[in-house]
Amino acid sequence: MELITIVNRCHRFRGFVYHQARFSSDHKSIEISVRPRKRSIAVCSRCHQPAPGYDQLPERRFEFIPLWGFFVFLLYAMRRVDCRRCGAVVVEQVPWGDGKRTLTRAYMLFLARWARRLSWKETAEAFRTSWEKVFDAVEHVVTWGLEHRSLGQIDAIGVDEIQYAKGHKYLTLVYQIDIGITRLLWIGKERTIESFQGFFTAMGKDVISKIVFVCSDMWEPYLKLIREHCSEALHILDRFHIVANMNKALDQVRAEETGRMKREGRAPVLNKSRWLLLRHSENLGADQHFRLRDLLRYNLKTVRAYLLKEAFQQLWEYNSPAWAGKFLDEWCRQTMRSRIEPMKKIARSLRNHRELILNYFRAQKLLSSGVVEGLNNKAKVTMRKSYGFRTYRVLELALYHSLGKLPEPESTHDFF
Ligand SMILES: [Zn+2]
Repeated sequence: MELITIVNRCHRFRGFVYHQARFSSDHKSIEISVRPRKRSIAVCSRCHQPAPGYDQLPERRFEFIPLWGFFVFLLYAMRRVDCRRCGAVVVEQVPWGDGKRTLTRAYMLFLARWARRLSWKETAEAFRTSWEKVFDAVEHVVTWGLEHRSLGQIDAIGVDEIQYAKGHKYLTLVYQIDIGITRLLWIGKERTIESFQGFFTAMGKDVISKIVFVCSDMWEPYLKLIREHCSEALHILDRFHIVANMNKALDQVRAEETGRMKREGRAPVLNKSRWLLLRHSENLGADQHFRLRDLLRYNLKTVRAYLLKEAFQQLWEYNSPAWAGKFLDEWCRQTMRSRIEPMKKIARSLRNHRELILNYFRAQKLLSSGVVEGLNNKAKVTMRKSYGFRTYRVLELALYHSLGKLPEPESTHDFF
């Protein structure tokens, strides 16, 4: 069986024939020459219509999927057409590649698929190519995917942010979190109102107006924009963020009190208590339980803050929004009398967002923000696997590539 037979089986295009396959002079590459089929008419790459021939450019090399340790190149002399429609001499369109890149579409799809499993650097090493070519491949596939994806009906979205570089550089991520499909819909550079506005513009009024549930944390500008654009939607506050904020407050109380006790020369009972207090009490070992019980005997602000935090967990057990509301009000009342400022701050914020929190119960807990949290963890893993250059563009491509569930360009054969 000849190599040409195999290539014809997996990578065949109308109007073109594989002419001959041979080794390059250094025997590291296989070169397959391609020719236009006799009497076939070239297609203008600008208007995508057949046009009369004009001349032929020097032979070009298009990199194809490597085979058994050999690089593989398609060699083809592109024709130029004298296109009357475009009123210009234009280079022809070839189905295996585009005008600018040296990689064939098949190889780009191949590399991009591997780049979802491995880091881009590992992909480049595995196929003895460069990081830049992997970047090109992913960019091609993601751009195609974004142009061809269908948004369909989106019922629920979750909004979150992740830090991508030092110095408070944040990305805003919007996910679709429907029961049947979870995917990354949109990435905004930085966490600003202007950038978040871009999401609503990108999705279009038609899609936005049909959104029923929105999950997000308590960053006020986000809430405001969501209220403006999705006035019909139930806004659900992110349970994870409430818990995280509470842990932060508790940590602050503990740190302050530890410092104060040290200054007053009192026994350092709070030392090494951080994880004891931040962890859910159910997740403590027997030894740690004992220490916690010991600690709880002291009448410390930290201890009282801890008990408030633990008591708050009960909120999530409720099924009825009315009872959850009663519990929330009572918890806030108690906390406001606690004279622990960081906890009082939380209580005030919860009071301000009371209706949003109760929406969580109105939505019957179907759309727990755990989904958003799970997606965000995947996003962080994707970022960690990056990627040579940590620029915004690289992250944007990597995130869409791994979380966007984008459609892929058609392929003549499943090479991978
Ligand atoms: Zn044309």
